[in-house]
Amino acid sequence: PDRIREQSVLLNPTCVFPWCTRSARSCDSDHLQPYNAGGSTTSDNIAPLCRSHHRLKTHGRWRYTRLDPGSFLWNSPHGYTYLRDATGTTDVSRERRPPPDHPPEPPPLSRP
Ligand SMILES: [Zn+2]
Repeated sequence: PDRIREQSVLLNPTCVFPWCTRSARSCDSDHLQPYNAGGSTTSDNIAPLCRSHHRLKTHGRWRYTRLDPGSFLWNSPHGYTYLRDATGTTDVSRERRPPPDHPPEPPPLSRP
């Protein structure tokens, strides 16, 4: 419905995908929880996603949840986590592990 879409656009002036700045007016209305999985068409389950990011969410392995009005937590297919809110996008991934080929720590020196 237009009223729900308008609320969503006012809360989120742009596509809510990390770093995207496309105007919400030209975006699709995405159901965070899919409509066919019981998601409701209400302003707390609708967010603007531009067409390409809507596809990425639907067919890629990006996932997101709404933390509060206008703030979303995204999980990338590579295990990164991004916070998207009115101030922009923040990488909030947990500390990176060293790559698998990182040499193991040398054993502690034993003293007599
Ligand atoms: Zn976008």
